[in-house]
Amino acid sequence: MLPTIAILGRPNVGKSSLFNRLVGRKIAIVDDTPGVTRDRKEGETRIGGRKVRLLDTAGLEEAPPETIQGRMRASSEAAVREADLVLFVIDARSGLTPGDRAFATWLRRQAVPVLLVANKAEGRLGTQAALEAYELGLGDPIPVSAEHGDGMGGLHDAVRETLPEVAAEEEEGGPDRPLRLAIIGRPNAGKSTLLNALLGEERMITGPEPGLTRDSVAVEWTDSTGGKVRLVDTAGLRKKARIEQALEKMSAAASIAALKECEVAVLVLDALLGMEEQELRLARLAEREGRAVVIALNKWDAVEDRTAARKRLDDVLTASLAQLKGLSVVPLSAQTGRGVEKLMPAVRATYALWNRRIPTGELNRWFEAMLSRHAPPLVDGRRIKLRYATMPKARPPTVVVFGTRAEELPEDYRRYLVNGFREAFDMPGVPVRLQTRGTS
Ligand code: GDP
Ligand code: GDP
Repeated sequence: MLPTIAILGRPNVGKSSLFNRLVGRKIAIVDDTPGVTRDRKEGETRIGGRKVRLLDTAGLEEAPPETIQGRMRASSEAAVREADLVLFVIDARSGLTPGDRAFATWLRRQAVPVLLVANKAEGRLGTQAALEAYELGLGDPIPVSAEHGDGMGGLHDAVRETLPEVAAEEEEGGPDRPLRLAIIGRPNAGKSTLLNALLGEERMITGPEPGLTRDSVAVEWTDSTGGKVRLVDTAGLRKKARIEQALEKMSAAASIAALKECEVAVLVLDALLGMEEQELRLARLAEREGRAVVIALNKWDAVEDRTAARKRLDDVLTASLAQLKGLSVVPLSAQTGRGVEKLMPAVRATYALWNRRIPTGELNRWFEAMLSRHAPPLVDGRRIKLRYATMPKARPPTVVVFGTRAEELPEDYRRYLVNGFREAFDMPGVPVRLQTRGTS
């Protein structure tokens, strides 16, 4: 299945022209199913270096005027249901019409990423209409001229940036693609033992001295949830070649490398030691790299006062790791195997949140509620006026906030938004990115 991109917009904005520009002459099919889909053309082409299926919803002009709205809606709905991405086209020459606004409002409520394309922006015309188009709450307008071919590079780039969530999965083998897992933690926390327990076999050597683990770890397996997992090579799981180097330092360096490659990091704690500075540093690194984190609270078998141990950990997490608020903690014993079966379900659950995108409409209803509860503060005596939010990507969840002087938003208000987002959409334990874009 190719990723599907649908071209939407009111009649005459240039959808067909854009379709032809993007597909070239390779128009494959004209769907002649009775009903609204009759109005639809589709073709295969490459956009942003990626093979896609492109849907054109033009042709509605032929409908009697009084039903255009309804037909447009029905046809668009059908296209949106299939689309991984929508190109919403407006006419930069005529400016925004009530039809555009109604369409945009409706689109924002659909669970699909949208790129706003300001067509007929040849020459220097693009900029002004583009600015106006920010109001639609659909992100940065991309000025193009379908007729002259201007701005197509920018459109390709935007598609490449917006589509990868879907496409990456497909290119790497669809839903079967293994989850990339890193197992990080200080030497002797029990990483190798845990990996063995997960694999259910003695594939690695474990031992009591720090660093006594075998070289090489290219391991892939099917976990208890039935999904595939690939272990990202953690040099921390390798034999330490240069023991003269401080162990903490090595472990961090190795973990950084693994964190860059993984999707979810399991931070293994020695429950007898708890979460110390070294572990906090690793967790913060994971957060900074945008990875989802799950804590494996290992050696739980050896802990005498479990209530106290758990409370100690929770206190540290609350006080020192607010950016990963609510992350999953799975007490287990890698050695006896107890509790190990709970780890991968927790990893999968966190992974799902990390991948989650909130439809723009839902996001903006939340955003408005946040703004009305607490308006952004004055900065230098002037109000920051926030207008709307979008979530252009997940992995990790990334929210972009638009508004006048949005870049000047103070840290505590950003935190208010991030925490509110986490709570409203129930996203514990995943890094959340907040970006701001100023509009005039
Ligand atoms: P659709 O109804 O949205 O599919 O729009 P069409 O692709 O049929 O285009 C509507 C009109 O706009 C046609 O007369 C096109 O020639 C014109 N048009 C399309 N793209 C451009 C463009 O980039 N610049 C200008 N100036 N006109 C365009
Ligand atoms: P790594 O350096 O993080 O890979 O740690 P290892 O897996 O080599 O384990 C270090 C030591 O901790 C070994 O002596 C293990 O037997 C011990 N260990 C690992 N998991 C557990 C556990 O769940 N309970 C107890 N009591 N000891 C464990």
